[in-house]
Amino acid sequence: MKPYVPNYVKARKSGTLAAKIARARKILEKCTLCPRQCKVNRLKGETGVCNTGTKVLVSSFSPHFGEEPFFVGSRGSGTIFFTFCNLGCLFCQNYEISHKGDGRETEPGDIAAMMLALEQAGCHNINLVTPTHVVPWILEALDIAAEQGLSLPLIYNSSGYDSVETLKLLDGVVDIYLPDFKFWESEPARRFCNAPDYPEIAKAAIKEMHAQVGDLKVSPTGTAISGVVLRHLVMPHDLAGTEKVMEFIRDHVSPDMVVNVMSQYRPCYLARRFPDLSRGITTDEFRSAVKIARNMGLTLVT
Ligand code: SF4
Repeated sequence: MKPYVPNYVKARKSGTLAAKIARARKILEKCTLCPRQCKVNRLKGETGVCNTGTKVLVSSFSPHFGEEPFFVGSRGSGTIFFTFCNLGCLFCQNYEISHKGDGRETEPGDIAAMMLALEQAGCHNINLVTPTHVVPWILEALDIAAEQGLSLPLIYNSSGYDSVETLKLLDGVVDIYLPDFKFWESEPARRFCNAPDYPEIAKAAIKEMHAQVGDLKVSPTGTAISGVVLRHLVMPHDLAGTEKVMEFIRDHVSPDMVVNVMSQYRPCYLARRFPDLSRGITTDEFRSAVKIARNMGLTLVT
């Protein structure tokens, strides 16, 4: 059996990674890295919705044991939590990182050092949490880390609010996509994330992700090495539109998609300002969402 080689290592060897870095940096001059299309010059320190100019902040990096079992394995998933977010849900459980800016400034070399430290710690993958607004720095960090021998699968763990153009820069770089599909309807996405286009963006993004890496594949030892895994947070009053989301995944992305139907919604940050967001989900709401996904034949993370 051939040894595992992650996509970014192949991209570095072929020279495509260097070309992608140059293209990604160019985008920052008039930033259209994500669907917000702020068109600010981030290379001059201007900031848009994601509050990030030239300085990339990282909140923390560590082996993480709260992810899906095929990411955690026996030694943990090597998470790097980037500060700020291009979506900015008003109910975010990590609002101190995503909204308040908790984190420290880093250069690509620092991010590369974090990746290598996580590999050294025995983690099974590098798990980039909220990476959308910092893709150019990630590409540079991968170039440095791969040169120094990084060889773990790379997970792009995003809200699903990703532009297809930026995802194409990641084609042949990322090994595993771990997107959310948060809302089927535009109205809750507008009210809670100021992103009425979220459903259309997420649909296109998840299709692109799947076109690049396909369904989940695991190593002989059971840890993930490539593919897409979808996360869907069940919301009170079915605000997420679970049935439509699952139907879309089955009919338009893949009937073999691995889906994590998540139960941990609770009203955080500004959620209590909205009566329909101000409670956790009920047992019945969660069971019903799981049943929907299961009845559609999707593979559920348990
Ligand atoms: S990455 Fe940030 S600045 Fe660029 S378009 Fe998105 S929100 Fe705006």
